[in-house]
Amino acid sequence: MKALVKTASGPAGLQLLDLPPPVPGPGQVLVAVRAAAMCGTDVHIAHGTLAVRPPLVLGHELAGVVVGLGPGVSGVSLGTRVTTETDASVCGECAHCLAGDQHRCPHRTAIGTTAPGGFAELVAVPAVGVHRLPDHVDFVTGSLTEPLAVAVRAVIERAAVVPGDVVVVIGPGTIGLLVAQVAVTLGAMVTVAGLARHRDRFRLAQELGIPHCIALDERDGRQAVADGVDGLGVDVVFECSGAPGALDEGIRHLRKGGRLIVVAFTGGLTVPLDLDHVVNHELALIASRGKRPASFASAIDLLERGRVTPRPLVTHVLPLERWEEGFEIASRSGTKVVLAIEGG
Ligand SMILES: [Zn+2]
Ligand SMILES: [Zn+2]
Repeated sequence: MKALVKTASGPAGLQLLDLPPPVPGPGQVLVAVRAAAMCGTDVHIAHGTLAVRPPLVLGHELAGVVVGLGPGVSGVSLGTRVTTETDASVCGECAHCLAGDQHRCPHRTAIGTTAPGGFAELVAVPAVGVHRLPDHVDFVTGSLTEPLAVAVRAVIERAAVVPGDVVVVIGPGTIGLLVAQVAVTLGAMVTVAGLARHRDRFRLAQELGIPHCIALDERDGRQAVADGVDGLGVDVVFECSGAPGALDEGIRHLRKGGRLIVVAFTGGLTVPLDLDHVVNHELALIASRGKRPASFASAIDLLERGRVTPRPLVTHVLPLERWEEGFEIASRSGTKVVLAIEGG
């Protein structure tokens, strides 16, 4: 089978190889991948700025069809259209696993980062992690279930957004716009904040039902955010940009007692933060990373009911063979590239 493999550490060593097809082990299903989305993690691995142990098949956002069942698998049928969670293995016994927080398991391995991923015609994944795609959800949309689950975790599980919350999302990238959409479904008043050069993303946000967008580098925009609806500031800020100054920017917009949810990585930078402001205003700083199985179930539910529409976020669909071009495009901001895979 064709698979995109990181064969060496550092910035080089990405190759489309012909590998023997994986054989599903106990508890695994074999998925013929039809669509696999590129995310920042894949770009960082490709460029060597995120270390992995080669050789590794990349890709963790995927959708496809179940074409094989390993020993002991029940409850999953051949031919089912699915997407998958990203856990490849967890211990199942530690306090995190027992609490349903498998993504925190110290023994976890993950599809596309420490276990074989989905930029391939076939991938073997745990049967417990696959979810049937709703009939009206195509494979390209289905491949975005994972980033949608990341947004669900941030908005519902970590921020606990409630109806009427005034929410600002900094960073109009894929995750930012998914976070904003999920917050809208909860009845929050949502503003997406970016820069003046993000006009195209603001148009997309409005298409997705996000009512307000503002450019933080324009004076009026900044003030509108900082005031909230009553001049006291906003309830929740999501930092989805990874910009070094965004965290300190975010806390300025919060009302006293507000919460800032850190979703984006800054690529190893230590960023400035006015801690006195945090203490004075009794702000809560909360990190959100990845997703738990329950977040995935909620994401599928949102897709099923058509509450969130991730498809317009996809800017490019390319065949697997054009992966080099895909990575080049995915390195630019405001893009979401999906590799379409036919042979699998
Ligand atoms: Zn991802
Ligand atoms: Zn565990």
